[in-house]
Amino acid sequence: MNPSTPESAPQALDIAIIGAAMAGATLALALAKRAKALGRPLRIALIEAHEQGSGHPGFDARSIAIAHGSVTELKRLGLWSLLAPLGCAINDIHISDRGHFGMTELNRDGFDLPFLGQVVELEAVGQKLLAAVKDAGITIYCPDGLRELASDSDGHTLTLESGVRLRTKLLVAADGLHSRVRECFNLPLESRDFAQCGLVANIGCDRPHGHWAWERFTDTGPLALLPMQDSAGQHRLSLVWALPPEEAERLASADEALFLSQLQRAFGSRAGKFISVGKRHVYPLKLSFMPRPIHHRCVFVGNAAQTLHPIAGQGFNLGLRDVVDLLQVLDSALVAGTDVGEHSLLHHYLELRTDDRNQTLCNIEALVRGFSNQYWPLVAGRSLGLRLLSWCPPLKAPVASRAMGWRRGKRLSENC
Ligand SMILES: Cc1cc2nc3c(=O)[nH]c(=O)nc-3n(C[C@H](O)[C@H](O)[C@H](O)COP(=O)(O)OP(=O)(O)OC[C@H]3O[C@@H](n4cnc5c(N)ncnc54)[C@H](O)[C@@H]3O)c2cc1C
Repeated sequence: MNPSTPESAPQALDIAIIGAAMAGATLALALAKRAKALGRPLRIALIEAHEQGSGHPGFDARSIAIAHGSVTELKRLGLWSLLAPLGCAINDIHISDRGHFGMTELNRDGFDLPFLGQVVELEAVGQKLLAAVKDAGITIYCPDGLRELASDSDGHTLTLESGVRLRTKLLVAADGLHSRVRECFNLPLESRDFAQCGLVANIGCDRPHGHWAWERFTDTGPLALLPMQDSAGQHRLSLVWALPPEEAERLASADEALFLSQLQRAFGSRAGKFISVGKRHVYPLKLSFMPRPIHHRCVFVGNAAQTLHPIAGQGFNLGLRDVVDLLQVLDSALVAGTDVGEHSLLHHYLELRTDDRNQTLCNIEALVRGFSNQYWPLVAGRSLGLRLLSWCPPLKAPVASRAMGWRRGKRLSENC
């Protein structure tokens, strides 16, 4: 439903969010809940290019692992109850280096937690979140997209592809790697190309996963298997396999028997025998980030601010921390009923995000380069590192704190 037409005055908003995938939809829902709790009117609109179920790029066939700290935050925002029925718990993680002696484990008991993370299928998550957006009465322009932006000191006037015009005090770009908002403002994006693609597929297995997740570093790159809910009596795992682009394309079109035998050879038999593979998808793997994810009356969150290599399963976990910090800085304006696009709020957001983003980006770059390399001193070093982690449990704490979506060694909710 489009309440404004091309001919009418622009629809007045407080916050326009471009992109209704994981970051944009969670932000819109959390904002609407907070405004309702405060009894403050807040005019929010979401603008999304793709309808659910028709090639929505943010709610596709991927499964992602939501870390324990992120689940805690989603609970605090009142959103986890929507997603909990879709989740499959990760209780233990096994990390190993193929062909070398390094391996370690992270276990929920060791961290006194009910689980280390939850795996959810994004297509099902999209159905839940977008239905909740409609129920919350948030205006959504879909399918529609941002065509043009005109800015002045009090806000932005957006012209959408449909011709609809919107006037907003704050613009939130949650429009992913190829952000149109970033393009309109001509802002810089830095990128590292690892010359890898991620082959993603659901794998049928001959035995239950027992809520284990596996990460195996192979000659070509990391291979991760995440536990999924059983479907039609089949035990399922979600595969993300980093490969050189031509190898990923070859395996994506290989026949099922060949694919399964190559996967089994690369991974080994620790998870059981792989007996079927679902539709295979290939994603280019890069690390891209905006050095400064703010602009005049504009904030970038999620993949629009940084797109990570999925090696550590941190993309949405980091994007959610963008959303949480943005909610924190906007709260004072919501409580006082003041301008949500004010300069000082956006600078506070930048301050809050700097350390966490820099550390996460550095760690992931080091991990990708360190574990995709066959240079022998590096191989020896990483094998030793994994062994040390398993021999000396206190060393696991910093590794686990990142893997579980906590920051600065604390559980996320302790920081807020
Ligand atoms: C193979 C793989 C495995 C992953 N595994 C994990 C994991 O285990 N754990 C984890 O935390 N993360 C993981 N991630 C990362 C995670 O999936 C992403 O970080 C997250 O889904 C990004 O959500 P987003 O909303 O920020 O952006 P996106 O999903 O990129 O969404 C952007 C949205 O904006 C819309 N849009 C774009 N341009 C416009 C426009 N001009 N107008 C209107 N709308 C527009 C798009 O249609 C889209 O809906 C993985 C990623 C990959 C590729």
